[in-house]
Amino acid sequence: MPNYLCGVLKDNHGRIVNYLRLAVTDRCNLRCFYCMPEKGNNWLARTELLSWEEMLRLCRLTIGMGVNKIRITGGEPFVRKGIMPFLSDLSGIKGLDNLTITTNGVVTAPLVPELKKIGIKAVNLSLDTLDRARFQAITHRDEFDKVIETMHALISNGIDVKINAVVMDGKNTQDIPALVALTKELPVSVRFIEEMPFNGGGQHYQTLVWDHMQILQTIKESYPEIAKIPDPLYSTSYNYKIPGHKGDVGIIAAYTRSFCGTCNRIRLTPQGILKTCLYDNGGTDFKHIIRSGADDAILSSAIVTALSAKAIDGHEAERTTYSSGAHQSMAMIGG
Ligand code: SAM
Ligand code: SF4
Repeated sequence: MPNYLCGVLKDNHGRIVNYLRLAVTDRCNLRCFYCMPEKGNNWLARTELLSWEEMLRLCRLTIGMGVNKIRITGGEPFVRKGIMPFLSDLSGIKGLDNLTITTNGVVTAPLVPELKKIGIKAVNLSLDTLDRARFQAITHRDEFDKVIETMHALISNGIDVKINAVVMDGKNTQDIPALVALTKELPVSVRFIEEMPFNGGGQHYQTLVWDHMQILQTIKESYPEIAKIPDPLYSTSYNYKIPGHKGDVGIIAAYTRSFCGTCNRIRLTPQGILKTCLYDNGGTDFKHIIRSGADDAILSSAIVTALSAKAIDGHEAERTTYSSGAHQSMAMIGG
């Protein structure tokens, strides 16, 4: 049975749950082809989104139950009006030790000093290539320079930067050595992510060629001296360092799903669906529960109930909840 006695929240497999990933919007100023279609996206109406107040309430509640880390994601979090006051309010909640953000960096650079003031210590920046033309081909927008500007603004403001690069067959595998080379002079962690089938369409690979082993093999061809370093608790990445480099390298087996055994996370989608697994096509509708007038005791009990049915891993979640091949857009889940 899951529980949250003494401020420790556990799932039905006895795993501690202390990490909430909150997607604050489905909208985005890029159209990364692995995440959403270039055209014809049906954005959620504002009333379908959780309001900032509803999100703050759910954050406060989960923090009271044992969550101590929250990541803000989306869609692109910085395209939703009101994000900065929300971050400021959220960062003030007692018990939240770690507030982080995942952003594409397109409009983020000018906000970095304020993020620093709010107390954001780490940001994940998505950047799949260092080649402007390939950036445009992947994201369908010509915004490469702004992303690079954000990367430098974060570093110069002393915010920890993790670069997220999705590895895509035939699209950016030639960029792997150049992205690793970034770690030579910059104190960044470059993390290569296996591509997952969440592009809002039906197409995905029959088998994934660019899995974590293929990615590591490719890095080793340019950097045979690469060495394994310890993986922090709950890490989803296998971590490495090239001797003498300021930064490090991670590989996230997001499709292979080899890290589920230590899963400590839950997700809240922009429309308020609580998902206990990224690969779970269902979830609990907290917007509906909140808007029906539920008090905190009812909300807490609904969280405990959701965690009593958490799949043991992403394979089980996918098998039991996806009946067809079409997967949602990642922007509707938050990554
Ligand atoms: N818009 C922000 C961004 O791109 O950083 C935050 C939302 S995005 C959905 C969160 C993360 O999910 C990004 O790092 C993105 O690269 C990753 N992502 C999106 N679709 C993916 C897919 N199909 N496979 C693997 N990672 C994916
Ligand atoms: Fe937008 Fe992020 Fe999805 Fe790219 S990965 S389309 S930046 S939400």
